[in-house]
Amino acid sequence: MCGIIGYIGNDNGVDYVLGGLKNLEYRGYDSSGICIINNSSQTNLIKQVGGIDKLVQKIKITKPNGKLIIGHTRWATHGKPSTQNAHPHFNNDRSIFIVHNGIIENYLEIKSKLTSRGYKFISETDSEVIPNLVDFYYKKVNSLSRAFRMALSDLKGTYAICLVSTIEPDKIFVSRLGSPLVIGKTKDKIFVSSDPSAITNKTKTVSFLNDFDIAEVALKKIKIFNQKGNKVSSAKFETISHNDSQNNLGDWPNYMIKEINQIPEVVELAIKGRLGANHQIKLGGLDDVSTQLEHIDRIVIVGCGTSYYAGLIGEYLIEEFANIPVEVELSSEFKYKNEPISRSTCLIAISQSGETADTIAALNKVKDFGVLKLGIVNSIGSTISRMTDAGVYCHAGNERSVASTKAFIAQVTVLSLLALRLAKTRNKSVDDLMEDLLNLPDKIRKVLDQSEQIQKLVHKYIKYKNFLFIGRKYNYPIALEGALKLKEVSYVHAEGYSAGEMKHGPIALIDKSFPTIVIATKGDLYKKTISNLLEIKSRGGPIILITNFQDQKIKNMVDDIVYVPESGEETAVQIISVALQLFAYYFSLALGKNIDKPRNLAKSVTVE
Ligand code: GLU
Repeated sequence: MCGIIGYIGNDNGVDYVLGGLKNLEYRGYDSSGICIINNSSQTNLIKQVGGIDKLVQKIKITKPNGKLIIGHTRWATHGKPSTQNAHPHFNNDRSIFIVHNGIIENYLEIKSKLTSRGYKFISETDSEVIPNLVDFYYKKVNSLSRAFRMALSDLKGTYAICLVSTIEPDKIFVSRLGSPLVIGKTKDKIFVSSDPSAITNKTKTVSFLNDFDIAEVALKKIKIFNQKGNKVSSAKFETISHNDSQNNLGDWPNYMIKEINQIPEVVELAIKGRLGANHQIKLGGLDDVSTQLEHIDRIVIVGCGTSYYAGLIGEYLIEEFANIPVEVELSSEFKYKNEPISRSTCLIAISQSGETADTIAALNKVKDFGVLKLGIVNSIGSTISRMTDAGVYCHAGNERSVASTKAFIAQVTVLSLLALRLAKTRNKSVDDLMEDLLNLPDKIRKVLDQSEQIQKLVHKYIKYKNFLFIGRKYNYPIALEGALKLKEVSYVHAEGYSAGEMKHGPIALIDKSFPTIVIATKGDLYKKTISNLLEIKSRGGPIILITNFQDQKIKNMVDDIVYVPESGEETAVQIISVALQLFAYYFSLALGKNIDKPRNLAKSVTVE
């Protein structure tokens, strides 16, 4: 979703900013633009609908140079994707330029106030009020710094803003509220970005801004103010580790298949140092809160999309191994619920990016409740990782495909470790799960070895327009996730259901044009799921069975079978999910869809 890059340096930064925008592409966007301030009277504004490559083509014509630049990738919220609506936006005098991520909720109010004072607006966006509001205050107080602060205090909603101006052509003014921003520096260059991974190929020395921080960024000095104008600090920089090889395709045709194939190593990394061959669990990120963890009697997990489904798997795991009641809530629902929460509740926020707006809002809701807040986050240093009391990183590396694959598997792996860490008694099932986790990477490699077979299966089913995914217990959330993955990347209608729910409605859909993917793993519930399968078969529905059980009796009753390596039911989750990810991937590939950037979707959803 939307991205910001800012640059100040001693040499021409156009290529840096374009490179940064290219690095942000994976987040999903519909238009882009840059503004170059050369001096107090010369600016260069270039905007374009579509991919960054088109912007680059446009820029090549005039070959502009500049040492103070802002750039943006827009994911439209207010107004269609168009050149006029693309950022940067500017004031009527064309002296103040901004890029904005987020939503200004009171923009209509501000717009009408400014319109009544003679301001004109040329875009449909909420963002365009920002440069004009700054202009309005600047004309009153004659200080850009004060005018920026005054404008910010009028804004309601969420934002990350970068502002440059011909009035002070040696500074970038930035601020954030509910939308990420980071400043990175080298000896002679400063970068600002909404996503650290977009600038880590330039610098790993970064300072994360907090909500309400306002920074005035000049090459010699970076000052941080709060909204009242008090200088609170100079920026605190830290060095982040980031593997930049995650940011290029290498020999892979797209990121989704690259990332699916990284999963065995991702699982190894997620358990490395945390689960030893001696079956000890060590989650260093939780050490500081271990006393509090002993006193929790309820867990609420919040997440969105795929992270929410990981949470549902976490519910089964934690209840089963740690015997603590768990509820899983969609962040977007939880934040509006008036549910009673006691101090002995622990809130776990799951988010790949660590910037998911709804999950941040859920955490903010419990800010003053005195509850323990944990994060299961992939992006190191992200907002959620900093606003929680403690947490466990997923260590899946940067995920660039919009549809999450490796991060989901890492989230489930971390939840398994957490369930084991919270387990109060040690028994056979605890030991079995530990052993299964250690063996998991090799079993997933075996699923990857079946890629060709899954691709062939997809070709057989490519004409179908609807799919049902069903499973029970652990296999229920992965049915939901399998269906989500298919719709996300191939735009084919798919629904996930608990197999036990079939008779309560969804079976009405079944006929020969509506195939079902049945997930049934060895264990107590195998037979029950097979009964559901037979009910579907009796109604003529085509069936693909995904199983880890060599059951001769069922072989001739289904249309197709995908066998996956045997394991306990808890880790069958990850093994089968990889098969379902491959199914969705090959479906999208066969239909010729934009696999890494499906239409209308964005990587990290930083607006509510
Ligand atoms: N709300 C702004 C717009 O529609 C910003 C969207 C974004 O975050 O990219 O232009």
